[in-house]
Amino acid sequence: MVDAVPTGAETAAEPAPPAYDLAGRVAVVSGGASGIGYATAEALIGAGAQVVVADIDPTAGQKAADTLGAWYAELDVTSSADWARLVENATKVFGGIDIGFLNAGVDTGGAGLDSLTDAAYRRIMAINVDGVVYGARALAPAIERRGGGRLVATASLAGLVALPRDPIYTATKHAVVGLVRALAPELAGRGITIHAVCPGLTDTPLLGGAKAYLEEQGMPLLTPPDIAAAVLGCLRSTETGQAWVVQAGREPLMYKFR
Ligand code: NAD
Repeated sequence: MVDAVPTGAETAAEPAPPAYDLAGRVAVVSGGASGIGYATAEALIGAGAQVVVADIDPTAGQKAADTLGAWYAELDVTSSADWARLVENATKVFGGIDIGFLNAGVDTGGAGLDSLTDAAYRRIMAINVDGVVYGARALAPAIERRGGGRLVATASLAGLVALPRDPIYTATKHAVVGLVRALAPELAGRGITIHAVCPGLTDTPLLGGAKAYLEEQGMPLLTPPDIAAAVLGCLRSTETGQAWVVQAGREPLMYKFR
């Protein structure tokens, strides 16, 4: 269990009036069929955005889109061809894309060096890291054509602190945070802000069998709407290149890198 992220650079999320209006925006949400992606798609629609639920699971993705009043696009985030098709089709349907939430991700179930297979390693690196790189690369030009917009990637608290029981997941999420920080200056020049949202344990299917154990231990879990609220905070912010930390029982914090 991660107790707290490093201290010293935290400031309360700014309650300033929304600088970026979400109403009328077109948003692509990867991993939008379930958990954090679904809740964020719902929150975006609530804020007046049009949403593309982009997910590898066509049954759950179509169902989510139908329920939410969104548009479903089949997407494997590890395929740059899929990203290109998504951008082309969404541009045809909606006229452009303003926002990308690069959220699809998986866990290894805690596999360490000894138990990790090559296939499991390649899969988590491909989805959690390639998926964010390919997504940012595909969406940035489309967002730029709209005169700028927003990218947010889902990292984790494991993107800021080490989870010794989950080293490979930790590595993928540190990669996401590093990518966000390093891309921010270039994207700023193109009118695009980018943030990493860093949730603690959240009650979604990703927890799998660990959920019962966590509950037995009395671990507080966040809910997907808790994370969605933080994502909307990132989207509305005029800052860039920061990590937004969401922990159970605490207000979301913007962790500002110096
Ligand atoms: P989830 O399993 O509920 O949702 C993940 C979604 O991603 C699913 O709909 C799945 O079909 C989709 N997906 C998986 N592989 C894909 C691929 N190759 N291409 C497109 N879509 C794909 O899990 P969640 O908890 O909502 O996870 C969302 C993100 O949040 C992940 O990046 C995860 O690492 C991160 N996160 C989760 C927690 C947590 O405790 N649940 C904590 C911190 C960070």
